[in-house]
Amino acid sequence: MPREDIIVPTPMDDDSIFDDQIRPQRLSDFPGQDPIKDKLGIAIAAAKQRKEPLDHLLLSGPPGLGKTTLARILAAEMGVDIKQSAGPVIERQADLSAILTSLEEFDILFIDEIHRLNHAVEETLYSAMEDFEVDIMLGKGPTARSMKIGLKPFTLIGATTRAGLLTPPLRARFGDTCRFDFYSPQELEQIILRSARILNVPIERDGALEIATRSRGTARVANRLLRRVRDYAQVKGSGIITRDMADAALKLLRIDDLGLDDMDRQIITTVIEKFGGGPVGVSSMSVAVGEERQTLEEVHEPYLIQIGFLKRTQQGRVATMLAYKHFGLQPAPTTPQNELF
Ligand code: ADP
Repeated sequence: MPREDIIVPTPMDDDSIFDDQIRPQRLSDFPGQDPIKDKLGIAIAAAKQRKEPLDHLLLSGPPGLGKTTLARILAAEMGVDIKQSAGPVIERQADLSAILTSLEEFDILFIDEIHRLNHAVEETLYSAMEDFEVDIMLGKGPTARSMKIGLKPFTLIGATTRAGLLTPPLRARFGDTCRFDFYSPQELEQIILRSARILNVPIERDGALEIATRSRGTARVANRLLRRVRDYAQVKGSGIITRDMADAALKLLRIDDLGLDDMDRQIITTVIEKFGGGPVGVSSMSVAVGEERQTLEEVHEPYLIQIGFLKRTQQGRVATMLAYKHFGLQPAPTTPQNELF
């Protein structure tokens, strides 16, 4: 496995066997994202009292923060089934209709990457969400006709990493939106200690905090780094994850104190050295660092922006003073001071 993949917040092959083991099952078992949990705790209780389905819900935020996990928890808390699909997978209206008509009362339909639904499929979703109805085509060719079919009341949970790409009519049909934030190191420490307990990994709190501060605010990355550090501690030490063990393992993986990897470093130094600190467009940056635009936008940029190293402006990306300081670089004399903060 190439080293740089370790910080990728989307699932990798060897994640899946662990995912099922360590995925929180109930709201009370899900560390972090307190404002979201508080709000949903009330929504669940109210829906149950009224014997109604939950309102349609949009979950937005970077990958690996727990959107899928939360959707499954909501199904468990409501005592209903959940069917899972994804925007790019539902190609035809008929595919969506087939899923919708198979839902039982109050079931949850979870659509990941909902911003990537095609237009025709999205339109089918409108009446399904609003009136619990769907048009289906009977027959083919000139004799084909459409018929309305009633659906059982259900809840749509959409997840998106790019809320800004959702069309206004789709967005308007969600009762509520939950925006996931990056986790704090303390929250990630809780997540790591919890996963270590389930996986029977001996770990000291300092060790957990060390991994947490280098996990880019992302639960999936924290769990993955825990597994890498566990291997290292087993081979190089007594098996116990101490702070020093975690530090040595993460250094070997070339993940620095802030969780930055080689590609993050390359991005920042390229913006500074090749583009005079910016502004630079994503396409030019992608060519200069030899990485796909989508990976830059979904993996590297959100975290670099979150820690205040990059700023997104109308003209492009700009490196901030913090980034110059972290990498020990000096701004060129021509860099306009108002671009730095
Ligand atoms: P998303 O859908 O936002 O990409 P997932 O729900 O698939 O993220 O979560 C990614 C991984 O991180 C899963 O293995 C999940 O168990 C774990 N995870 C996410 N949020 C938490 C959390 N709050 N506590 C513990 N583990 C979490």
